[in-house]
Amino acid sequence: MRLSSCIRPFFIMWNCLESMQGYYSIAACAANCHGLARTGMLRHSFNNIPGLMKITDIITHQLSVKVDEPFTSSRGWIYTTKNALVVEITTDEGITGWGDCYGPSAVARTIVDTLLKPSVIGKDPFDVEVIWEALYNKVKDYGLTGMTISGISGVDIALWDIIGKACGKPVHKLIGGSFRSQVQAYATGLYFKNMDRLTEEAVEEARGYVDQGFKAVKMKIGLGSIKKDIARVAAVRDAIGPDVLLMVDANHCYNVPQAINIGRELEQLEVHWFEEPISPEDIEGYVEVSRALDMAVAGGENEFAKFSFRHILERRAMDIIQPDVCAAGGITECKKIATLAQAHGTQCVPHAWGTAIGMAATLHFLASLPECPPCLVPMPPLLEYEQTFNPFRDQLAGKPFAHDKGWVDIPTVPGLGIEIDRDLLDRYRVK
Ligand SMILES: [Mg+2]
Repeated sequence: MRLSSCIRPFFIMWNCLESMQGYYSIAACAANCHGLARTGMLRHSFNNIPGLMKITDIITHQLSVKVDEPFTSSRGWIYTTKNALVVEITTDEGITGWGDCYGPSAVARTIVDTLLKPSVIGKDPFDVEVIWEALYNKVKDYGLTGMTISGISGVDIALWDIIGKACGKPVHKLIGGSFRSQVQAYATGLYFKNMDRLTEEAVEEARGYVDQGFKAVKMKIGLGSIKKDIARVAAVRDAIGPDVLLMVDANHCYNVPQAINIGRELEQLEVHWFEEPISPEDIEGYVEVSRALDMAVAGGENEFAKFSFRHILERRAMDIIQPDVCAAGGITECKKIATLAQAHGTQCVPHAWGTAIGMAATLHFLASLPECPPCLVPMPPLLEYEQTFNPFRDQLAGKPFAHDKGWVDIPTVPGLGIEIDRDLLDRYRVK
């Protein structure tokens, strides 16, 4: 190798540092030098460079609130509370980022506080992928999937919030840009509340969403009787008419023959997708159900990191995958999962359940997803807009995400684009 080609990258780095206008310069500089670090020519960590931002603390906020009306799904457990684990990351430059972890909040809190936090303090938030890999490798021997990845997700989302605020850019501008300025939301609801009037309550609720302007609704099924399920879905279809998208979610309560049987009847009711017909670990079962039905089969809200999704995609086990940014590894990992999905011709329509932070992160992620497939009349991914009682979704950022006839704007202010109401954190904090 000629000497001039050897030292040229150092001049690039030097010029970059000298003319540094902001964090973009550092990022570009780091990208130039990344190859050198890999070849061993550059041995020092960028965290040692004076002037780089440093993470000073991670504070977890465990929240809980009683729901206004208990409800259940085919899983059978009764939701009497809504819980959340909010992650706050502070920096030496006074910039604070917010994240959200899916799953049991006490477990997520322990994972973030005891496992992840010691490996993140002192790092530069701009090293978001470096931090992700470090955390994933730390938990690899015992936590390849599940709540450890939810913990990493909360940290990752908070780091992207910091990066966006530091750059003065909304997060979607930093992950590839926005394919759209709005996304169409679908209302998720129609759980089981009053077992004596399941069909009536479903019809009333669905009509309410259509009256609000939603053009898409997802309902729960899985009453232990295909007849009962179909009668309830048929009543809702009848109530909302043929032009509103209707999806069903079985929360993996069927076996393969049951799923195929009910799926054939759901097709007659123009159901847009059949979510989690069978148990998530039965990938070969999903292949059978997907092949047997003409309708789209969806799933993946309980998959974690790209390695789980790889098996689903390689087998074409689902038509739509539904990673949750608060569970599957944050924005960093979900971008990679979406790319894998695109490479396998599978649509990515994220699951969303959490707080306003999770909603905002999902919106930025959705903004950055290309059409799959690209076509004259695009079929963009939809936003899941949960409608169950949840002040952490509706009030944590001051007010609920507004929709206009079911369309929600992508946030355009720096970071995730939300201001956290600290009084609400205090009000619902688990002591
Ligand atoms: Mg679901």
